[in-house]
Amino acid sequence: MPDVKFIGVALFGFIDRFKTDEDCMGYLSSIKWAGGYKCKKCGNENYCKGRKPFSHRCTKCKYDESPTAHTMFDKCKFPLLIAFHIAFKISTKKKGMSTLELHKEFGLRQETCWTFKNKVQKAMKSSHRYPLTGEVHVDEFFIGGPESNKRGRGAEKKKLVVVAIEKVTGGIGRAYGQLIENASSKVLTSFFDPHIETSAMVITDQWNGYKPLKKNYPSIIHVPSKNGKNFPDMHIHIMNLKGWLRGIHHHCSKEHLQGYLDEFHFRHNRRNNMDTIFHKLIERMINSAK
Ligand SMILES: [Zn+2]
Repeated sequence: MPDVKFIGVALFGFIDRFKTDEDCMGYLSSIKWAGGYKCKKCGNENYCKGRKPFSHRCTKCKYDESPTAHTMFDKCKFPLLIAFHIAFKISTKKKGMSTLELHKEFGLRQETCWTFKNKVQKAMKSSHRYPLTGEVHVDEFFIGGPESNKRGRGAEKKKLVVVAIEKVTGGIGRAYGQLIENASSKVLTSFFDPHIETSAMVITDQWNGYKPLKKNYPSIIHVPSKNGKNFPDMHIHIMNLKGWLRGIHHHCSKEHLQGYLDEFHFRHNRRNNMDTIFHKLIERMINSAK
């Protein structure tokens, strides 16, 4: 099968490649069955042409599967071409697109945009396959509350987020963020485990919750935060994240915050590989719904 991957971030190239729903259907089909066909119902590996273009029909049980079935594009309320446009915009625009912007640009009901954007954010969730390595800085901060009083009184009403960033020459490498209930070592461990290699040299402030992590992360060190002065890159990252959240989402409920953290970091972690970011997202939207 020829490599069908769409490369690029230019809208012109995108429009040229995807003109109809059928173009998009063909794209989904090529990704979905790239590794070969296997019937979802009976496991048979032989198929013939189905009822609709690009559908696969099992030769044994006759199950007719469309490229959108069992993917995040299934039962989409608007044309597939628009879904592709939205996925393209959210993934390639530096700040993504709010549901209000989507509603205005595509003429869809805002609620419909919400539903679809939630799926996109779900697909942008970390796969946990590429934990951070090398020098990694970790810190927590609040969203929707005063900067100070990080772990003190009143903290329970605000949204607490823990972030890990990779320190690379000249700045920040990849990063992950997670909404957490509290900064206990148990909760912090549940964030560390899937997101940071145990061999990493982790640097945190002197909060007690980080101390027991030494067991799994022998190279971890704790330094005084000095109001964040000892973590300048972390400070920049958090400011960027907060600025983005404020900019397009005036109110972000606790329920939806993780989705936004995932969206922000999905783009952040691919900012040097933007040419393939749309393709990656489509792949995820096909595979993570299974
Ligand atoms: Zn079958």
